[in-house]
Amino acid sequence: MDCRKALSPSKLPEMDYALNPYTGCEHGCIYCYGPGVVHADPSTWRVVRVKRNIPERLSRELPAVNGIIGIGTVTDPYQYAEGRFMLTRMCLEVIARNDREIHMHTKSDLIIRDAELLSTIKGVVGVTLTTMDDRISKMTEPGAPLPSRRLEAMTVLQDAGVKVYALVAPVMSTLEGHEAELMDAVKETGVEIVYYNPLHFRNVDPSRMMRMGISGSERAEDSLVREGRLRGLDVRHVFKP
Ligand code: SF4
Repeated sequence: MDCRKALSPSKLPEMDYALNPYTGCEHGCIYCYGPGVVHADPSTWRVVRVKRNIPERLSRELPAVNGIIGIGTVTDPYQYAEGRFMLTRMCLEVIARNDREIHMHTKSDLIIRDAELLSTIKGVVGVTLTTMDDRISKMTEPGAPLPSRRLEAMTVLQDAGVKVYALVAPVMSTLEGHEAELMDAVKETGVEIVYYNPLHFRNVDPSRMMRMGISGSERAEDSLVREGRLRGLDVRHVFKP
């Protein structure tokens, strides 16, 4: 499909514009707020639509734009479709040519492919990590790469000179008792900043999580902050300074 605009205004912190090369997301996270944000049918969210003309649109829009471009604000820019269509990469090439700043989110190690390109672009990348347990990951983020691959992505990006942070979002009750393990793993990648965000049900259908007995957990949030700081990590709430 063709898009009419590449960029839209973003309400997320630290981002002025949103860029999403794909509509829909194959990762199928049970806590996904994407369909709620863009008023899409959650039952077809895993059917991905590809904005084939987005790099060209972006080239035309960028000269008139100043500010931070959030990439992957609604869908993962490195989901599997990106391996075939490379729209995120093409958009990054346009951004690099125009010397603009980005703030990107992903939970896919496909981002390793673009580490060198990303190292030439101003900005920061957040890699989402919500658990160290493959079973929990498969249950809550069934289509996404496993935690070990995301940790590898953090290491590679960090080594390439890209500014990276770990994004523990959302913090679910499944993390209780495993916060230290997760902070140890992040520390080992060399990443020094961790953002976290509580689980909320705004724009989310909670029924699947409720059936699985998953809820938010202030206890896990507190413990995450404590364990991270014990290891010298800078742990911050996403929406607080
Ligand atoms: S990666 Fe993000 S957009 Fe994709 S399903 Fe998970 S929460 Fe939704």
